[in-house]
Amino acid sequence: MNSKGTLYIVATPIGNLQDITLRALEVLRTVHTIVCEDTRVTSVLLNKFDIKKPLIPLNEFNEEQVVYGILKQLETQDVALVSDAGTPLISDPGFRLVNSARKNGIAVIPIPGPSALIAALSASGLPTDKFSFLGFLSKSKTKNLKLLEQYQKLETTVILYESPHRILPTLEVIAEVFGDIEITIARELTKIYEEIITNTASSFIERYKNAPPKGEIVVLFSTKH
Ligand code: SAM
Repeated sequence: MNSKGTLYIVATPIGNLQDITLRALEVLRTVHTIVCEDTRVTSVLLNKFDIKKPLIPLNEFNEEQVVYGILKQLETQDVALVSDAGTPLISDPGFRLVNSARKNGIAVIPIPGPSALIAALSASGLPTDKFSFLGFLSKSKTKNLKLLEQYQKLETTVILYESPHRILPTLEVIAEVFGDIEITIARELTKIYEEIITNTASSFIERYKNAPPKGEIVVLFSTKH
């Protein structure tokens, strides 16, 4: 394929819209089309910066079907990929698109910016020399036990994404594998109710049993003891 277009992977804010980079704005203003997760969410960002572009929704359910059309468009036009928040492909859709674009000789250029895992890690006070990002844990406790047990042998900071309604089982499975270790919870980063707190697994479990946390959560802990 003689590709003339470029696929830009554009990171967007994880809460505070002022975290958009100058380069991200420039790219979003110059590409022909923006591929996004949820058109309503991306429209809020684009309206804020007065950017009007055709939007193509791409999500975990339709990615396979829409990739071909986007590759066709990339033969002649620049396209940007964004997700609802943070860096696309990081626990977000876009893998098939980037993989196919690269296989088809299309230039893929990252426009780096916010990502919740790096923001949380940088402010956690935990070792940063080696870290393992495990994304969202599974709904299966057996799978989670198996996965986390593999990290008992490693010296690393473990980073997980979590939602308020899954935080309790996640803390319980961490405590089952690693004991009552210290955990850092980074919640609502860059937003009004931002909170980064470190406490034992049992204290968090007790606290959240009574009042589940609200908002978006990153869970971090070190396997070094
Ligand atoms: N692509 C995004 C990134 O680069 O961070 C992550 C998308 S993933 C679908 C959403 C998860 O990221 C949330 O459930 C939460 O675990 C984490 N997250 C996103 N924004 C956050 C924030 N402002 N504060 C804390 N965690 C956040």
